[in-house]
Amino acid sequence: MKLTKGCKCQICGKENLSKNEIGLNKKMLNPKATQFYCLDCLADYFEVTTEELLAKIEEFKAEGCKLFS
Ligand SMILES: [Zn+2]
Repeated sequence: MKLTKGCKCQICGKENLSKNEIGLNKKMLNPKATQFYCLDCLADYFEVTTEELLAKIEEFKAEGCKLFS
């Protein structure tokens, strides 16, 4: 099974996930993840709001994490 262009959410099927969404998957779920979830589905999964996830992304970026842009 090979990755097609772009990544899509395994739950809702949203396509072309952003680098930040993918970074969050790797950072919070599995660094070696090959299946990803979009921001909305991640928020559901962690039972937080998308705003809180966006704040997390900013935190990781502030730490200089290269998974985020
Ligand atoms: Zn989704």
